[in-house]
Amino acid sequence: MKCVICGNENLDVLTKKLRYGNGIVNYCSKCDYGMLEAGFQDASEYYDKEYRKKYKDELTNDREEIPEEIYQMRCRYQKDRIHAIKNFFDKEKSFLEIGCSAGQFLNKIKDEFGHVAGIELSKQCAEYVRQHWNIPVYSEELSQIKWDGKQFDYIGFFQVLEHIEDPRQFLLNVHERLKDGGKVFIEIPNLNDPLRKLWKVDAYEQFYYHEAHLSYFSEKSIGMLLEDCGYKVERIDYIQDYNFLNHVYWYFNNGPQPDCIFGLNEPNIDFKKDGENIQEAGTEINKLLADTNRKYFEILSKYKLTSNLFIIASKI
Ligand SMILES: [Zn+2]
Repeated sequence: MKCVICGNENLDVLTKKLRYGNGIVNYCSKCDYGMLEAGFQDASEYYDKEYRKKYKDELTNDREEIPEEIYQMRCRYQKDRIHAIKNFFDKEKSFLEIGCSAGQFLNKIKDEFGHVAGIELSKQCAEYVRQHWNIPVYSEELSQIKWDGKQFDYIGFFQVLEHIEDPRQFLLNVHERLKDGGKVFIEIPNLNDPLRKLWKVDAYEQFYYHEAHLSYFSEKSIGMLLEDCGYKVERIDYIQDYNFLNHVYWYFNNGPQPDCIFGLNEPNIDFKKDGENIQEAGTEINKLLADTNRKYFEILSKYKLTSNLFIIASKI
């Protein structure tokens, strides 16, 4: 195996254990980039059937997923993305989201652009977005759609690039679909995740590497690859998903919280009501936790140690 970005064959190993089994993640120290030695044959087939069945959505229980549930669970976690692109809202521009899932992001921004469209390989989700949000959705891979020269001003893909077998070819295909001066909005997990790099939680190291994540990017590696593919990086935002108390929980328990609902929201303890003074104390403590969490996120962002990177790059 060699580095997808620089061709280096002298790779290190980041891990031999993944969240759900064994696999090797190789590491190019020149690019600060991790690559999983694995892969699936047919992405369309995999994401339509196997992926959802095998991993479920981590926001839900063991039931079979349905698009309505994905939408309801995910729609409240779109605000960082919307904040990151709100300066680009423009009724004259078009926006394509690759991997639009149940439309939880597209539906929130569809009135801010002249035209929006999605690509979603899960046929069930694609149909749901067409029916419920009246947004056109392609359910083939980007490179297999008959575009007839159609191009977009903006193309976004959030938590998608790390799943792609050939990220270089994918970014080149996206480049082709962008108008001159068009921009990409990319959200990816950060290799410099705080539970790995800052808290150094042993159990998290294995939890972090995921069978479906084929690439592990840092600011450096995504910047190099984008530059190579004809983009200029304009801005990187450092976005944190899980809260401060979730990280403290990992640190002391060496394992994840039972579900992700507490961790993905502003920290809030349910102090059982027991007289007025308890209720008031609880309210003040929750305010303290929320203030602390905001400050914590600022510190992670300042030192580029957030869970996710949000990159804005333009076509050159
Ligand atoms: Zn490299």
